[in-house]
Amino acid sequence: MPEPGRHASTVIAVDGPSGSGKSSVSRGVAQRLGLRYLDTGAMYRAMTVWMLDHQISVDDASEVARTAMVPRIDAGSDPSAPTITLDGVDVSGAIREPRVTAAVSAVSSVPEVRARLLRLQRAALGGGGIVVEGRDIGSVVCPEATLKIFLTASPEARAARRSLELSGAGHVEAIETTTLADLERRDAIDSTRESSPLTQTADAFVVDATYLSLEETINAVVELANSRVPGGQP
Ligand code: C5P
Repeated sequence: MPEPGRHASTVIAVDGPSGSGKSSVSRGVAQRLGLRYLDTGAMYRAMTVWMLDHQISVDDASEVARTAMVPRIDAGSDPSAPTITLDGVDVSGAIREPRVTAAVSAVSSVPEVRARLLRLQRAALGGGGIVVEGRDIGSVVCPEATLKIFLTASPEARAARRSLELSGAGHVEAIETTTLADLERRDAIDSTRESSPLTQTADAFVVDATYLSLEETINAVVELANSRVPGGQP
């Protein structure tokens, strides 16, 4: 009997607000189930790096829309070594810079940006079983996903997690500014924008990671995946 996660058409959609642990959980689930992995947030961040580096005013939606087709963005799908390149250059460090985090919600609210990245994301889905994380995966990118997870945690737990990530990445100056208020500001923009906002679909399983360790959260999602696709059926 094939392992449940290995079915070629399996798509596990993981949506949720900033700092809920989507990346670590999604990568862990993909590794456990032998699936590929796609971080759609990294793609929006790469687009934002390009806008900032080309002196595009990110608050000028028409400028952002006009240039959204120009950058070449490639996201690797190996969960043990995810990669993201912009015009062929590795930007895995640059996408985590505080200037990018501050600007990404404005860039990602522009419909032309979303349409462009949606095409790239749908193309990635075709290459075999995959765990895809973002804000609109279960609602827009893959409404027919095998399993939809809405991963959440209390605002305090999410702010604490984000500060830890930043200190690990060496962005010490950003820690003080990564307050609860900053996270909530980004979530408010992501949840209320007109074009495919952060959405918890009716058929999503809510996983609240406030009091769960990373391992426990991964276990919870893997169990759901196993019960959802018994014997490897989609
Ligand atoms: O997940 P991460 O925090 O890296 O995402 C960065 C930003 O990218 C989000 O705040 C949101 O504005 C945008 N995003 C999005 N749709 C997705 C994934 C990310 O709008 N599917």
